[in-house]
Amino acid sequence: MNSTSNQFSQIVVASHNEGKIVEIEDLLRPLSIHVQSAVGLGLPDVEETGASFEENAILKAVAVANASQIPALGDDSGLMVDALGGEPGIYTARWAEQEDGQRNWDFGMRQVAKKLQQKGARNWSARFVCVLALAYPDGPVVTTRGEVHGTLVWPVRGDRGFGFDPMFVPTGHELTFAEMEPEKKHKMSHRYFAFRKMLRDHLS
Ligand code: IMP
Repeated sequence: MNSTSNQFSQIVVASHNEGKIVEIEDLLRPLSIHVQSAVGLGLPDVEETGASFEENAILKAVAVANASQIPALGDDSGLMVDALGGEPGIYTARWAEQEDGQRNWDFGMRQVAKKLQQKGARNWSARFVCVLALAYPDGPVVTTRGEVHGTLVWPVRGDRGFGFDPMFVPTGHELTFAEMEPEKKHKMSHRYFAFRKMLRDHLS
């Protein structure tokens, strides 16, 4: 056992994104830990002012752990497109913000496709990245990272999942994440790999 081994019975998911909360709850189900979310506890969303996925995940987890006095799991994730030099990266959610400030994933995906088309990019390879941070109230914080590689498609396909799922086909598959059964996506996603490492190294 290390200093951050699982010695708790509840955890807070430090997110306000319903799609992510559902996925993380699914991943935590096998553990007998009572899962709550920052939204459920009425905690405000944490501003992502970090310069990396790691910094943002830590910001969220630490703020929520300290405010709730319950261990918290923060997640920062995004899409990195090779032909766009890794953009939108940590700004993925922002690329989906319209002028009125509302998030619209169709709009975000169109932005990505438009940039690739403007560049005349023939290689539409991309990856989803997820960094998880587990923070203890006023205590230590640990992180793990997971990635899934694939290719972007246009027009988008499928209506499951969330965010940029309809334009992402993972390597070795033909369906987009939004066309797959959620259980299938959940077993090959960036979040799943980051989560597996978290379970193996810090939650068992
Ligand atoms: P953040 O982690 O809250 O900054 O949001 C990152 C954004 O990346 C999300 O709002 C989604 O648009 C996108 N994203 C992250 N993970 C996934 C995923 O599993 N599927 C689709 N889009 C994702």
